[in-house]
Amino acid sequence: MNKQLILLRLGELTLKGRNRHRFEAQVLQQLKRVLQPYPAVTIRQEFGRVYLELGGEPLNAIRAELLKVFGLHSFSPAIRCGLELPEMEAAVLLAMADLPQPPKSFKISTRRVNKSIPLDTYELNRFFGGAVLREYEGLTVDVHNPELEIRVEIREKETLVFSEVQPGPGGFPLGSNGRAMLMLSGGIDSPVAGWLAMRKGLRIEAVHFHSYPFTSERAKEKVIELTRILAGYAGKITIHLVPFTDIQTRLKQECRENLIITLMRRAMFRITEQLAGQRAAHAIVTGESLGQVASQTLPSLHVIGQAATLPLLRPLITMDKEEIITIAARIGTLPVSNLPYEDCCTLFVPKNPSTNPNLNVVVRQEQWMPWLEEAIRTAVENTEKLFIYPNQAEETDYLF
Ligand code: ATP
Ligand code: MG
Repeated sequence: MNKQLILLRLGELTLKGRNRHRFEAQVLQQLKRVLQPYPAVTIRQEFGRVYLELGGEPLNAIRAELLKVFGLHSFSPAIRCGLELPEMEAAVLLAMADLPQPPKSFKISTRRVNKSIPLDTYELNRFFGGAVLREYEGLTVDVHNPELEIRVEIREKETLVFSEVQPGPGGFPLGSNGRAMLMLSGGIDSPVAGWLAMRKGLRIEAVHFHSYPFTSERAKEKVIELTRILAGYAGKITIHLVPFTDIQTRLKQECRENLIITLMRRAMFRITEQLAGQRAAHAIVTGESLGQVASQTLPSLHVIGQAATLPLLRPLITMDKEEIITIAARIGTLPVSNLPYEDCCTLFVPKNPSTNPNLNVVVRQEQWMPWLEEAIRTAVENTEKLFIYPNQAEETDYLF
């Protein structure tokens, strides 16, 4: 008798009726994807509940996979036993024994679907509680605010006992809210922004600007590696690698130094918007966070954002760096983001970038550069596209 079952709770309690149905189907699809390497696991649906039967596959590995399924609110590994009281008692004691350390207070909550059991839930709670108290000295029962709640669900054919409720990633199932382009640098922020966008139900495609040979092959590999980590949550992510050297060097030659960043970022948005058009994506996601650098003041965000007409989603806009780093560590992107290789922006950073650019001045600058339109088109045309999969060293070229 050990934990051979995981009870799943699918998220967004506010959803009703048909939406709820579609939501569940989409979460199940993602579940099947992450469980592919574990063929013995089966998914069961019963009475509006979803379970995994582990079939002997390792619990901890499955836990890690479940953390990649958006729309999964929480889950509970459970012990299964029969309908005899001594068996149930043994399962309750096993649930206790499995804890890293015993709690100070607990309660038992029994649910009894099977009415053939001779005791009512009150008597059952007392029965199992008594067994625990006999085994563990110094424990107290606290029905209002227990440190540990052991749940016993007595069903028609079996009993489930569990105490742990592990939070899942929550959010909406992948793709249920459409598609967006993620501007992905090699930094800490944009992968986190991408993960948060995916959690909100967006299927993302990454767009990365590189300035080869000013930026190295390693910098590109780093971004591909970040995309691969994000692909663990999605199954596959397309990355668009945009050659940005020409635009960057010409901007540097021709414009006022303090406006280079503004103009560069406007060009990035325009390119990303064109790529979004090709891919029927309806938003652009960035890792911008208010006040972090000169290009992320409100006036800068305004002037830069005017270059695109699609909704600009900035999931990190109000977050502190520490909060962002915490998420980056949790989702697994932080160690790769911390690798040293430069991305294209850092190479062209002027000494005094404008924190308060003027939209008219910037637009006029752009009008003095008739080549820009053509250069943007060329960059879009020469963009390299790759499919990135979670566990694969080789990329597949993008064909369609
Ligand atoms: P990050 O940690 O994501 O690199 P940052 O704090 O370094 O962000 P910026 O360099 O101002 O901030 O970039 C702001 C946002 O612009 C990034 O979060 C990302 O969405 C986008 N961006 C910056 N550089 C690139 C690039 N080379 N390719 C694609 N997107 C980029
Ligand atoms: Mg950066």
